[in-house]
Amino acid sequence: MDKIRNFCIIAHIDHGKSTLADRLLQFTDTVSEREMQDQLLDDMDLERERGITIKSHAIQMEYDFGGGKYILNLIDTPGHVDFSYEVSRSIAACEGALLIVDASQGIEAQTISNLYLALENDLEIIPVLNKIDLPGAMPEEVADQIVDLIGCNRDDIIHASGKEGIGIEEILKAIIEKIPAPKGDPAEPLQAMIFDSVFNSYRGIEVYFRVFNGSIKKGDKVKFVNTGKVYDADEIGVLKLNQESTNEINAGNVGYLISGIKVAKEVKVGDTITHVDNPTKDAIMGFEDVKPMVFAGIYPVETSEYEELRASMEKLQLNDASLVWEPETSVALGFGFRCGFLGMLHMEIVQERLEREFDMTVITTVPSVEFHAIQSDGGIILVNAPSEMPEPNTISHIEEPFIRAQIITKSDYIGAVIALCMDKRGAIKNQVYLTSDRVELTFELPLSEIVFDFFDRLKTISRGYASLDYELIGFRKSNMVKLDIMLNGDKVDALSAIVHREKAYEWGKRLCEKLRELLPRQMFEIAIQAAIGTKVIARESVRALRKNVLAKCYGGDITRKRKLLEKQKKGKKRMRQVGNVEIPQEAFMAVLKLE
Ligand code: GDP
Ligand code: MG
Repeated sequence: MDKIRNFCIIAHIDHGKSTLADRLLQFTDTVSEREMQDQLLDDMDLERERGITIKSHAIQMEYDFGGGKYILNLIDTPGHVDFSYEVSRSIAACEGALLIVDASQGIEAQTISNLYLALENDLEIIPVLNKIDLPGAMPEEVADQIVDLIGCNRDDIIHASGKEGIGIEEILKAIIEKIPAPKGDPAEPLQAMIFDSVFNSYRGIEVYFRVFNGSIKKGDKVKFVNTGKVYDADEIGVLKLNQESTNEINAGNVGYLISGIKVAKEVKVGDTITHVDNPTKDAIMGFEDVKPMVFAGIYPVETSEYEELRASMEKLQLNDASLVWEPETSVALGFGFRCGFLGMLHMEIVQERLEREFDMTVITTVPSVEFHAIQSDGGIILVNAPSEMPEPNTISHIEEPFIRAQIITKSDYIGAVIALCMDKRGAIKNQVYLTSDRVELTFELPLSEIVFDFFDRLKTISRGYASLDYELIGFRKSNMVKLDIMLNGDKVDALSAIVHREKAYEWGKRLCEKLRELLPRQMFEIAIQAAIGTKVIARESVRALRKNVLAKCYGGDITRKRKLLEKQKKGKKRMRQVGNVEIPQEAFMAVLKLE
């Protein structure tokens, strides 16, 4: 055990975590030149394209150092707030962390939030100043920031470039010399923590775990403490570039387990694995059942593809335990699903995977957070779709989730950032200068205001010099209303939204204007109205079409006429009818891009 080191890499997105991981794998000959592909750890297509790590992975390296053979387990962590619980469990599986900071960017919000998580778990921090090859690198200045932040010595900071392969040997040396070997007792009852799981279409679910005490052997009968389920350890092994099965994994080490589990939902990150005989008395601390934060309807563009969409969702759920859904019906969109996501990125990922991996074209409705409708007797009704909102006179009030957000930006943009947060109904709570021109601002904001376009706007007003991280802090009373859209008097349920009363007018007005642009003119005038209850707060109209479309081709050649008719027919298939009005698919998407 004294020759094992378990570590993770924490960094703000794009600071070079994946690139550096690749260099470590090369340097330790864990992968051969031939096997080397850029960013090995990001193996989902989507991850590689977006250059972000969505799911965490682990990989074991061997490294000869000072006459000994060391086992280095690198546990990769996802770099986005949507997946912060997974990050926290990956960190809990380690004794040390490489803290990577881009020498041209400096410390960002996720550098700090992940660092705090690492410190809470008593991890040894190895500071690495990365991308020193860049002409824009500011090694002195950023080193100052790092010293201020973690209180290390300047000489403790390793200067590196993942791209050029600079500082790699020094990093490996620091991992061995500075990160403590795992503690733990192989003779105690088995206590292993699940930090990730991955779906494999041939082998079912692979569970990744870190053994804290005891040991697990091939063939053991094991139990997952929080779910209470029992399995046979059909195969266990270590995670090299490919999996290598072994007979036993001991305290301190990291491995995988295959036990015939078919559905990702059965495996909960943070759960404890123990033996059915001689179980541990204590589950590993920090287990949480992750809850979806953002909800939206997903509907097939072609109504006939409902069953296909259901099958695709089921398959997607096999390897995405945090995706939840149930059938939902909409007057406008027909049969579809109400889905719960960890956040907006997770929602985009699901939508993109449906399109790429399953060839489904879908319509996503306005995302919403979960509101609490508090009844007069104190009971709580969970509202995660506008259609579930009770009539205002039947309840006491509405509460909405609030977050604490940390934003790091340059001092030039403080005013703009504060203005944005105020516009989003936020309140500033703290302001700390990290250096003379970098400042950390803390706000409390409603989650519903940031699920939309907050991040994009933040980036725009700060010209890219702002980073954001947040955590949920609880529910607060808010004056939320349900805003409906009506076309010629008929409510289009898929366009309804729950918004703050003060924002309802603006929202309604924008949406009406957008719809006026998007709705094709028909043979009659279309009245577009936004209403709260029976009160209309905004209206627009689309004028009636005077002439038949075909009139344009009058006397023209017949094939052109036919083509036009066919085009019209095709377009119709993508339309939805509410009352007498036809609505193109783009109209449902438009609400997602209101600002
Ligand atoms: P991650 O998001 O932290 O995993 O970052 P990546 O490893 O994906 O790197 C983000 C971008 O920075 C990519 O375009 C890399 O090629 C680039 N990059 C990573 N490390 C270095 C480095 O040391 N020097 C330079 N110049 N670019 C780097
Ligand atoms: Mg990455």
